[in-house]
Amino acid sequence: MREALKNLSPYKPGKTVEDIKREYNLSNVVKLASNENAYGFSPKVLEAISGVTEIPLYPDNGVLKLRGKLAKKLNVGENNLIFGNGSSELISIAARTILTPGDETITCTPSFFTYASETMIANGEITQIPLKNNTFDLDGIISRITNKTKLIYIANPNNPTGTIITASEQAEFLSKVPQNIYVVLDEAYCEFAKNSEFPNSIEMLKNNKNILILRTFSKAYGLAGLRIRIWYWR
Ligand SMILES: *Cc1c(COP(=O)(O)O)cnc(C)c1O
Repeated sequence: MREALKNLSPYKPGKTVEDIKREYNLSNVVKLASNENAYGFSPKVLEAISGVTEIPLYPDNGVLKLRGKLAKKLNVGENNLIFGNGSSELISIAARTILTPGDETITCTPSFFTYASETMIANGEITQIPLKNNTFDLDGIISRITNKTKLIYIANPNNPTGTIITASEQAEFLSKVPQNIYVVLDEAYCEFAKNSEFPNSIEMLKNNKNILILRTFSKAYGLAGLRIRIWYWR
């Protein structure tokens, strides 16, 4: 086995409702552990997928229909979108595309563990800085940048603390990050951030070539089982 993988412990997914019922002999269990949407999904989704007949065929690699519609809705170019099989795949693609062995990734802890594991899988070095007041410590990240740093992952809002980085904090941070370092802004929970100070990151693509914005249909849209994710980049 590759040396880099020996320190990795397997991802522990949230247990299923069935697991918990069996293990603790319970009959009524509500699952909160993986942040799936307790309200389920829109009935329009069932309507849309009930007529799907293309299952025996390989999917459209270009994701053309969804790409066109989303580009319009979000007011970005179609070529600014990348679709993935779960955010984890896009987090992994970022690490494998950007890091060469020995390069460094910085993030905070506790946050989404995939940032660290995908860095390690890509033979990168991970620096995890403790949260400050349960929030991403942006100054801490800046202070740990070295000439080997190539990638920074930020969860905004953060999982598991639910804290946010404001628009002005994010803008100030991005102005301090050297342009050769990519910043992944993982906005898996942006739809839940009602604070008016929450950044409009898509707007920031205009002036920042080095940001990758990650969004998902898994949480607010209740489609965790469908594994479609989006990425905005420039
Ligand atoms: C749930 C979550 C995701 C989304 O995972 P998917 O693979 O898209 O379902 C991404 N980032 C964070 C921080 C999450 O909590």
